[in-house]
Amino acid sequence: MSTRLPSYLNAAEPGPWAMFLQQLDRVEPHLGELARWTDTLRRPKRTLVVDVPVRMDDGRIEHFEGFRVQHNLSRGPGKGGVRFHPAVNLSEVMALSGWMTVKNAAVNLPYGGAKGGVRVDPGQLSRGELERLTRRYTSELGDFIGAERDIPAPDVGTNDQVMAWMMDTYSVNHGTMQPGVVTGKPVSMGGSLGRRDATGRGCFVVAREAMRRLGLPLAGARVAVQGFGNVGNATARAFHDEGARLIAVQDVHGTVFNDAGIDPHALLAHLKAGGSWSDFPGASLIPDDQFWGLDCDVLVPAALEGQITPEVAAQVRARLVVEGANGPTTPEAEDILHDKGCTVLPDVLANAGGVTVSYFEWVQNATSFFWTEQDIHAKLDRVLSEAFDSIWRSAHDKGVNLRTATFITACSRVLEARAMRGLYP
Ligand code: GLU
Repeated sequence: MSTRLPSYLNAAEPGPWAMFLQQLDRVEPHLGELARWTDTLRRPKRTLVVDVPVRMDDGRIEHFEGFRVQHNLSRGPGKGGVRFHPAVNLSEVMALSGWMTVKNAAVNLPYGGAKGGVRVDPGQLSRGELERLTRRYTSELGDFIGAERDIPAPDVGTNDQVMAWMMDTYSVNHGTMQPGVVTGKPVSMGGSLGRRDATGRGCFVVAREAMRRLGLPLAGARVAVQGFGNVGNATARAFHDEGARLIAVQDVHGTVFNDAGIDPHALLAHLKAGGSWSDFPGASLIPDDQFWGLDCDVLVPAALEGQITPEVAAQVRARLVVEGANGPTTPEAEDILHDKGCTVLPDVLANAGGVTVSYFEWVQNATSFFWTEQDIHAKLDRVLSEAFDSIWRSAHDKGVNLRTATFITACSRVLEARAMRGLYP
């Protein structure tokens, strides 16, 4: 089987792309006739690397590396977020773009998969520097993106303000208003109601469906969440509001624990008011390394990739892992969890709520007709519950885990389109 890396990645440090290749290897034997097209997925269709020079507030010019990878376009335009993080590199953006291909096809959105990123710590930039970086990055992407070509959205380190600057820059450069070029925009300028919390809400919906089938009651279920950014905090709120008990939250700033339950709304309000993790009155600080071994039913890694390694997996006591983040569990760690009887809801299904509502936003932009928040919630719940149901049944029929089942559904859709479209010339 071909897990060879392309010459433009460093074989000594293959990074997350190697993990994506491993996942493809696991699905290939289940693809039947379509397996002859699998190599299509083992290389991204298009990769763009750009220099992003920024005039800093002190007058210096700094250069940042920017990326946009279109992994696959067989089922529609590219779609996927833009990450601003100091660890961004080509391997990571490639893997994230591959996961978008799988995610979009898993929930049957009419998109291919893409992802972008800039290797920068946005927390170190002033607002002006961040705006200049975003605008220059967008300008460098030029016609690589577009409402019918490739549609960026928020990811780690970016938000609705960054999307507003991207849309404005692209629109100014094109001389016409182009709301559909990005999703995750502010509601005041073409964004969709319900987009901000969609990823976390989706994590909850998929988890709820899994818990029902596992016979795990939601009321009082003990939940631990890693990451309190956009995904982690919305997931925590959804579980809390539906009667589960949030016992721990971990972020880069620390880990808080309360056996009686943490109110995520109160934690959010505390942090927004300038409070720190250590002085939050609703929980106590515990050592970070105790987080993974906590006695809980549901564990939600909602930060970065590569968090659940085999060593971490050995400590996990949860019945269910819900991947809010992209790529948080290594394939070896997943096998350990599986052997322990712990079910993993894979990223490409668990966190697909974000891009699903991105799709709703893009449709609303194309028609200039906007839906109510209730409409969005109901449609999101239906798309994810139905996708979950068919993947759950396929996992049982085929005797594979949920990730492989999701990859089988998704890759079959992508490669069927690939085969039908044929090779040009
Ligand atoms: N960045 C999110 C993800 O990883 C959302 C992508 C989108 O909405 O296009 O799924």
